[in-house]
Amino acid sequence: MNTYLIHINGLVQGVGFRPFIFRVAAEFGLNGEVENRNDGVFIKINCDEATLDLFIEAVKNTAPPAASIESIEAIQTDFIDFLDFQIVKSISVSDRVTVVSPDIAVCDDCLRDMKTQPNRIDYPFINCTNCGPRFTIIKDLPYDRDKTTMKEFVMCNNCRKEYTDVYDRRFHAQPTACADCGPEYTLHFEETAITGIHAILSKLEELFLSNKIVAIKGIGGFFLACNALGEEAVQRLRKLKNREGKPFAVMFSSLSTLKDYAHVDATEEKSLTSLKRPIVLLNSKKPLAPSVCVGFGTVGAMLPYMPLHYLLFEKINIDAMVLTSGNIAEEPIITDNSIALTILTKVADAVVTYNRDIYNRADDSVVTVVNDKERVSRRSRGYAPSPINLKLNVDGILSTGAELVNCFAIGKHDQVILSQHIGDLKNMETYAFYCESIERYKQLFRFEPQIVVSDLHPDYLSSRYAAESKLQQVKVQHHHAHIASCMAEHGLDETVIGIAFDGTGLGDDNHIWGSEFLICDLKEYQRFSHFEYIPLPGGDKVTEEPWRIAVSILYKYFGKNFKELNLPFLQSINETSVDMLCQAIDQKINSPLSSSAGRLFDAVSALINLCPVSKFHAEAPMRLESVIDRSIAQRYSFSANKTISFDDMFHQIVDDMNHRLPASAISAKFHNTVVAVIDEVAEKMKQECGSNKVVLSGGTFQNKYLLEKTENLLRNKGFEVFSHQKIPTNDGGIALGQMVIAAARNSM
Ligand code: ZN
Ligand code: ZN
Ligand code: FE
Repeated sequence: MNTYLIHINGLVQGVGFRPFIFRVAAEFGLNGEVENRNDGVFIKINCDEATLDLFIEAVKNTAPPAASIESIEAIQTDFIDFLDFQIVKSISVSDRVTVVSPDIAVCDDCLRDMKTQPNRIDYPFINCTNCGPRFTIIKDLPYDRDKTTMKEFVMCNNCRKEYTDVYDRRFHAQPTACADCGPEYTLHFEETAITGIHAILSKLEELFLSNKIVAIKGIGGFFLACNALGEEAVQRLRKLKNREGKPFAVMFSSLSTLKDYAHVDATEEKSLTSLKRPIVLLNSKKPLAPSVCVGFGTVGAMLPYMPLHYLLFEKINIDAMVLTSGNIAEEPIITDNSIALTILTKVADAVVTYNRDIYNRADDSVVTVVNDKERVSRRSRGYAPSPINLKLNVDGILSTGAELVNCFAIGKHDQVILSQHIGDLKNMETYAFYCESIERYKQLFRFEPQIVVSDLHPDYLSSRYAAESKLQQVKVQHHHAHIASCMAEHGLDETVIGIAFDGTGLGDDNHIWGSEFLICDLKEYQRFSHFEYIPLPGGDKVTEEPWRIAVSILYKYFGKNFKELNLPFLQSINETSVDMLCQAIDQKINSPLSSSAGRLFDAVSALINLCPVSKFHAEAPMRLESVIDRSIAQRYSFSANKTISFDDMFHQIVDDMNHRLPASAISAKFHNTVVAVIDEVAEKMKQECGSNKVVLSGGTFQNKYLLEKTENLLRNKGFEVFSHQKIPTNDGGIALGQMVIAAARNSM
């Protein structure tokens, strides 16, 4: 008989891991102890070597569903004569703590208990160690009930009995509750406040079936909901929420119903039903109310994840409801009851609150599946704040991120904690949320920044935040940060072929970059090639008015004669505006130069009259992608030298338009051209730098067709291709890239 010390790393805290170990040890009849420490779970156990192997196998194979084991190491240690097996009380956390569990969808066992346990019949806050809220209710560590917003709810005797019984699924389930002692919902309608879950559900049924809009408090914030098949309600929601064009996310009553409305492959099904329950972008099959998806052939779909969602669909006979963030326009999602009752009542006919506070805000996360892999594009509920492991020391580094789709990140030893999706910092409330969250992460994760990293762009609010911090500041070029974030995700630190395509980022020549072919490592980059610069007349205005870019490109490649081409998109634009635009370009008035790939997609989308004016961020490229005819393999011509020119391509597109080729074919040929450009330039970069590793990053790679085709072509050519999965390819991943670049430079 020996004593072994087993160290388990990963997401093993707040997910019922110690009682699980206790139960496994009991099954094997082994004595010892288990202890939670900052750097993982430590087990001391008395047995022989063969039993140790069996014990470790059992731990690996039967771990709680919400846990995720990264490593298990065992060594023999000094013999201790344990008399039984005990769970040792958590020692207080030092500064090493990095693991806070994300929120977890309600589990099947709890859904069953909700139908059978007398004190939890239809009780919508049921949870256990395998499920329920985590990050959104945690104020401080170690993770104990009194450090969460459950603190004010005193457990009843029944709950306490379960909470203290190591054989119970609710042993040390910090948010555990029942109808006798836990939180409860209230429905506010006109001047009345309705309580009691059955009365609330009856009222909700009436409201949904009469096409009303309801604000409902979720896990990480309020949501606005209505029947997804009630066009009148959806239209009214659009108008009142001030959201004109962007598709709404939809929650379906069940997986089988969802499959009536959308195509779901095996990987998509895995994402939809995972404990994280993200919104998954799917191809539509059967239509919902037209104003839900506004002409796109896709739907952002999700499945119920809170007990209330299940109760709702059980009570109300609807297939699906729109479930969109409870905010007006671009403000952060509302978390506070009183704010919801004053602001959301402008949109919603009724507001459903509950009396437990949301401490950390979290939107629904969004993923897509490309080439059988889940790609996170908005990383929030269910995903954040899980750490990202590195081979690099990033301790004490604060990355402030970009601006439009901001996440920040903090560095702890060899791990990065990327914040939940914050949003567009230019919005005042969002910026306040950003500042508040940085302070909260500092406290929660015992983090004191020594170095602060920002984008090169001095006017980003995140860059200003960095400058005002008075700490040592490192500035990182935007597209280098994109590539580095993807390298960090895949553990790369050598020289790679980096291809960053996105909407905008300041270059080191003071122009706007966005189609960057970078030979780079984590420390430095060499700009190998990029798309030819195009003036953007009107500056920031071009993102809302893509026709401006189309005009700029036509003017460049066709001269003044482009007006005689009789292009349909120009018919809706007043001629003097077009002339003034050309003058602005000639005189270089507010016409910054840009190599942005995003703007090239905008230009084509406007030129073929799909989206001359954009109603929401990235509408033009999304419309262009949504019409692609996948049966078309042809492409246009281009010339790739030091810069890449699309002169030929635009002449051919105009030709195709004159021959009345449909937008679906032009879009396919355009996308195929971009893939061919990547292929040709990657080959040249390989000759130049010797690397066979292509790293793809940037918001443009949210385009499923582009990513799928690019990966497949490059792989067929023998390249090793790396693209984003766990980290957003858009600016939500920038903070990770900033961090590893700062760390790599610091270690020089
Ligand atoms: Zn559960
Ligand atoms: Zn209770
Ligand atoms: Fe970007």
